[in-house]
Amino acid sequence: FSELQQTDPEIAGIVLEELDRQRDGLQLIASENFTSPAVLAALGSTLSNKYAEGYPGKRYYGGCDVVDKAETIGIERAKALFGAEHANLQPHSGAQANFAVYAALLKPGDKVLAMSLPHGGHLTHGSKVNFSGKWFEPVPYHVQKDTELIDYDEVRDLALEHRPQMIIAGATAYPRLIDFARFREIADEVGAWLMVDAAHFIGLVAGGAIPSPVPYADVVSFTTHKVLRGPRGGMIVCKEELAQRIDKAVFPFAQGGPLMHAVAAKAVALKEAATPAYQAYARQVISNSQTLADALAAEGMRPTSGGTDNHLALVDLTATGVTGADAEKRCNAAGISLNKNAIPYDPRPPMVASGIRVGTAAVTTQGLVEDDMKAVASLIGRAVRDESATAEVRSEVSALVARRPAYPRG
Ligand code: PLP
Repeated sequence: FSELQQTDPEIAGIVLEELDRQRDGLQLIASENFTSPAVLAALGSTLSNKYAEGYPGKRYYGGCDVVDKAETIGIERAKALFGAEHANLQPHSGAQANFAVYAALLKPGDKVLAMSLPHGGHLTHGSKVNFSGKWFEPVPYHVQKDTELIDYDEVRDLALEHRPQMIIAGATAYPRLIDFARFREIADEVGAWLMVDAAHFIGLVAGGAIPSPVPYADVVSFTTHKVLRGPRGGMIVCKEELAQRIDKAVFPFAQGGPLMHAVAAKAVALKEAATPAYQAYARQVISNSQTLADALAAEGMRPTSGGTDNHLALVDLTATGVTGADAEKRCNAAGISLNKNAIPYDPRPPMVASGIRVGTAAVTTQGLVEDDMKAVASLIGRAVRDESATAEVRSEVSALVARRPAYPRG
């Protein structure tokens, strides 16, 4: 780091400033985490220098024998951890992984049945501003208005009506377990591929804390940087019979040279995720999330669907009279990072929104537990309701995180 400081003090300063921001606040963005120093070391390594288009043993460049070892180890770790027949560690991001899955299984114009965006789906599940909505024909399914749970009957009805070529299970703001067996049944009934986008919850699967989609899905795509706690990136696991199609869709169809430093860092994260310590972490993430959801309910902030089974809660702020956008701003000013989020059947536009999304992956990594979650809920409650309390909440946030810092100083 001293070399960065010498060469480019401006950027070095920004890196330190961001480290301070991460250390000195409550990081409750459900898609973020604090990755380990070991993962960061692999990321900041000379593997970044190496071109390695292709796959281990079949590269378009010489000198790949060493990086081949890293990718092979990573692939084997992914297969073992997820009980998968094939793994591809090269997608640069979750969106790239999803692009590759569409490319491998579909042709432009095909129909894709996926969760409606305002109900928790991701941009790559059929948004009109994304390739998935521009080049494919999205058919959105929803959550039920009363339970706020996926309406599996509607999924089946839509599948029978539209005969999609692919069905996607998985979301970006859904706090409950997904019934993969039910999705498999529906996909089989209409002869559709079943893709599970496990970006948000794959870390909980890796830690054995929730059921795995791998036995049910044709393809499972995910990001590596959320609960899984790896480097920013994507990954795909699938059955052996789809291995070639997936690999060719990632490279050369969607991407060029893999980021070998990121591939190696994914391998490190997979090793970490296979430990008993990580399994305990995954269980703690859920326990913290459930405690936080209950404590927010006691603050008059309603967890949609009545609670959570995973690492996140989607919280309806309607009763507080504060919009999601204002809550995000007020919390941010108090050192609490979270995001505004549409709730199911939200009357407000997405940039205003009636809810917030909170996740416990990062705060659990730094060692916060259930009692801390109760304190966090109270801090959120005060920050949202009372703007005059911002400074006081800010200093209490600092004191709370200083007791269990992410990336301890020194
Ligand atoms: N899929 C889901 C369900 C996500 O939540 C996200 C990101 O939040 C992605 C895909 C895309 O991942 P990335 O931002 O790495 O492209």
